[in-house]
Amino acid sequence: MRGVRPVTRRLLAALVLAASLTGCGEAPDSLHKTQLLAMGTLINISIWTQDDALAQRAINAVTQEFTRDSERWHAWKPSALTKINSAIAAGKPAALDAQTRDLMVKAQAMAAASDQLFNPAIGRLIALWGFHSDDRPDDPPPGRARIEALLKEAPDMTDVHLDGDRLRSTNPNVQLDLGGIAKGYAVDLAVDRIRKMGVTDAIVDAGGDLRAIGRHGDRPWRIGIRNPKGPGVIASLQTRGDESIFTSGDYERYFTYKGKRYHHIIDPRTGYPSVGAASVTVIDRDAAKADAAATALMIAGPKGWRRTARAMGITDVMLVAQSGTVYMTPSMAGRVEFEAQRPPRVIVNAP
Ligand code: ADP
Ligand code: MG
Repeated sequence: MRGVRPVTRRLLAALVLAASLTGCGEAPDSLHKTQLLAMGTLINISIWTQDDALAQRAINAVTQEFTRDSERWHAWKPSALTKINSAIAAGKPAALDAQTRDLMVKAQAMAAASDQLFNPAIGRLIALWGFHSDDRPDDPPPGRARIEALLKEAPDMTDVHLDGDRLRSTNPNVQLDLGGIAKGYAVDLAVDRIRKMGVTDAIVDAGGDLRAIGRHGDRPWRIGIRNPKGPGVIASLQTRGDESIFTSGDYERYFTYKGKRYHHIIDPRTGYPSVGAASVTVIDRDAAKADAAATALMIAGPKGWRRTARAMGITDVMLVAQSGTVYMTPSMAGRVEFEAQRPPRVIVNAP
């Protein structure tokens, strides 16, 4: 299951409060750190500044941004997104706020570039698999006939049309699920906000997916990439300036039935959880793009990732196959340091 168990709204509110009270607690000197729960995950905020008041304002702004975004883009609790989905099912147009519109434009572009492997229109399929819940029980997977019935409807982002601030779908079976991109977009919005306030050095980390700007004092920020095949990190790297590092993995959300693991990234071609990759890490400046690309490359797998990365304009990729072999682009290989005493088998290839 997810690293973070289901949280109630009350717990979230309590944590947000605790975070804002203890913001800079034990952190030394210029490092201000806090945590909150939002978008179904733990958000870690690190701000490097000597201006304590600025750090606190920035922490408040990030908290506000994530709280608002979890509410408006939630896939199954009543939200702006569930309203859009009801309108689509009823064959009606839906009005979008400016940021939701921008997020839809990005989602559409990422879907097109990935040849619809990244396909946020398959909400019905994701719901059928039971992932529209905080904690899916280890019940049987859905039957093949029901999966195939949904595949026949073939919803994808080419069915979705944006006209001014209105969204319309020509396929009533489209149900939007932004789980593969909204976290990245929220990270972008949060970083934009604190930058405008004057923050130059920070990390906004949403459950291990992050955007880093600037440095940690006199050294770069250093971040770890989780090992999908066991505990701890598989590798680490130093960030350079402004960049986003996003990982999708088969360990993030899953259930187990009769000894088999079923994870939450669904291959829209088969209707089943993607096979071949255990995790994919992508670096790009844009967090929304990195988020969508990591999801798409999980589905593309060890055979298809180079083509999909090329099509999506992604140059830094690390894919850990279910076999344990690590595939990387040359630019990624030039920056990661493996942690294991016995480093994994690594294959480096241009995208
Ligand atoms: P995480 O949110 O755990 O970091 P991802 O970014 O890969 O992982 O997002 C996974 C989520 O994306 C799923 O929980 C689901 O909501 C959604 N999703 C699943 N399959 C697809 C797909 N083929 N295209 C777009 N979104 C998907
Ligand atoms: Mg993603």
